[in-house]
Amino acid sequence: MATLLQPSNTIDFNSARISLSRPLPPPIEAPRENYGERRYRMAASLQTTLEIEQLLQLFLKELSPAIELDGLQYLNDHKTLQFLAGRKASHSCGYRLITAQDHLGEIVFYRSTRFSDRDLEGIEVMLSALICPLRNALLYYEALTASLTDPLTGAGNRIALTNTLAREISLSRRHQHALSLLVLDIDKFKLINDRYGHSVGDTVLKQIVRTLKQVNRQTDLSFRYGGEEFVVLLNRTNAEGALIIAERIRRAIADTEIALEEQSVRITVSVGVTTFCDSDSPETLFNRADKALYLIKSAGGNKVIGL
Ligand code: GH3
Ligand code: MG
Ligand code: MG
Repeated sequence: MATLLQPSNTIDFNSARISLSRPLPPPIEAPRENYGERRYRMAASLQTTLEIEQLLQLFLKELSPAIELDGLQYLNDHKTLQFLAGRKASHSCGYRLITAQDHLGEIVFYRSTRFSDRDLEGIEVMLSALICPLRNALLYYEALTASLTDPLTGAGNRIALTNTLAREISLSRRHQHALSLLVLDIDKFKLINDRYGHSVGDTVLKQIVRTLKQVNRQTDLSFRYGGEEFVVLLNRTNAEGALIIAERIRRAIADTEIALEEQSVRITVSVGVTTFCDSDSPETLFNRADKALYLIKSAGGNKVIGL
């Protein structure tokens, strides 16, 4: 609703004084929005993307001409997703998006003035157009996440490592941030499988990733490279910092007692460490850390070496 100025009122607009001396014409009722028609157009538009963030931006863009909004936030605790389109403001109204089959998360709308019943009615009509595209976008997100995750340990897989390493190298070049890489290999892991069986071996692999996540705050930068080998990327971390973190990881793993049914096992790891330099490609960076790992293994394992 527009704010009407009474005759002789003044407003300070960008420091120019504006004064109204003529009587204002009677307020004109804005034509009532046809939400049904807008919903129909919106449904077609929302079907153009499967990216959750893009979908919510589009939803806000399509909704804004009908209902004044500053922003919206989407939260999905189950999938640990959180997006803000636009910005938060003093007034909000929230909806839990639940269908007979799914929990699709929660959406909160923000603006600086109160929401009227008519606004809420409009939002609810429009939300009904979001349900189906949002469900598709969440399914797509799940499939994408699964394709980048190692199913046994939940760490990123080799494809995720390739993608993330390329991204981190390009960020490091652009912003001149340090980037370090750790290659970690379990010592004498074959013995664990031989002595206790493969399912105990699997438990050990899962415990390694749990410990990596406890020690390293950037949980999305740990990857299972293959078998019993893992890679950790440390952005904004120089060679000195990387050696400290690698040693912390090595010690945390050596100190962890992995409980089995009737007993427990301990394992050790070897960690090769290196830091990105401008002439590096992903391969040269990785190979240097791998070479450090080879040196440790030749000396008996359970050590950190930087190259
Ligand atoms: P080193 O100290 O030289 O690293 O010796 P190692 O025994 O750790 O290395 P080796 O390469 O000889 O053996 C790795 C073993 O890892 C062999 C393979 O069966 C086992 N492995 C690979 N993937 C898995 C998995 O998903 N689960 C289990 N349980 N074992 C696996
Ligand atoms: Mg190995
Ligand atoms: Mg090994």
